[in-house]
Amino acid sequence: MAASLEHFQIIGQEATIQSWQTLIQSGRFGHAHILSGPSGVGKDALAIYIAASLNCQQEGDGACGVCASCRQLINIEHSALHLVFALPRRSASQTDPLAGIKDGEMDEINKILAKKSAWPYYRIQIEGANDIRIPSIRQLRKEIYLANDPGTTRVVIIFSAHRMNVEAANALLKILEEPPPSTVFLLTTEYPDRLPDTIRSRCALHHVPELSWQLVRDDLIKKKGLDPMQAEVCARMAAGDLTQAYHYAEQDNSLWLDRIRGTLNSLASQDFASVYKQVQILCDKELEDDESRQQYLSLLILLFRDVAVGQGVSETSLWVKQVEQLNKLYPQCDSAKAIQTIEKTKDALRRKVHLQLALTALFFELRKHLRGMA
Ligand SMILES: [Zn+2]
Repeated sequence: MAASLEHFQIIGQEATIQSWQTLIQSGRFGHAHILSGPSGVGKDALAIYIAASLNCQQEGDGACGVCASCRQLINIEHSALHLVFALPRRSASQTDPLAGIKDGEMDEINKILAKKSAWPYYRIQIEGANDIRIPSIRQLRKEIYLANDPGTTRVVIIFSAHRMNVEAANALLKILEEPPPSTVFLLTTEYPDRLPDTIRSRCALHHVPELSWQLVRDDLIKKKGLDPMQAEVCARMAAGDLTQAYHYAEQDNSLWLDRIRGTLNSLASQDFASVYKQVQILCDKELEDDESRQQYLSLLILLFRDVAVGQGVSETSLWVKQVEQLNKLYPQCDSAKAIQTIEKTKDALRRKVHLQLALTALFFELRKHLRGMA
């Protein structure tokens, strides 16, 4: 199985897949399923894998990943595969979800789908697309009832299914109540509670568990060529979300450790000017933006968390050294309060407060927490 999962670029989740495999072989795999779990754990990738398992042309368990059917599913272009996701509303049409969408927008959507097929953890996010509306479900209905493809199992994947509005969910419910033959519905979502009870009661609910940061780190080293330190930091900041970890990995993070060191040095110094210098750097429009500041603050939180629990979390020696040094220099450090203060600042920055003031306040508070004098 492991080898074939590579073709699907799936990380971890072997136990989840094994339990589905058993279910499919037993013939008790129903026609409607919800795959729920935190973002970036691979719900969409697993849905594509299930679609391939149900249609694989090779003998044996699961999906081989190399037969024509598997290849087409990996490329999300199999004729038995029907994808539903939120689209921008550009017309009042009740039947055609793409009505009124301009050529340029269509190109964008196609580019996004190409990225999804290249890497199933890619998050489909189309500008102006907030919900899944009735035209999408009506079109799906037309497609699946008209389809004539003997020998295949049609698979409908609804990405971020919680985005269905009430009308769309009701229309889907009618389909689920009288499903066409050999058709399987897979709804992926981070928020199963937002789906109507009527839909949930028709589906088998499967939880897709979080990925360990070690798995995410190893993938970043292997596929993104990160060094172990950067990979660990990205993986742990992303907290089991592979998509987010890749996003962090694509930022320029070569200087992260230096930045943290610089911050700690200035906090250690009695010289207030060095604190102001740190603030200046963080406010510099050329160097930083909202996102990079949030990342920097997340990294500081990670550091204080490690200081709080002591050794044994991190595996990268550079990072361990940093934590040890902090522990040695500041035995009184109140990490819990430091983390609270940073969280508060992160929140404030999202609300667009005065940047310089918020960061200056943060550093002065951190100086106190480091020395346990709150
Ligand atoms: Zn196959």
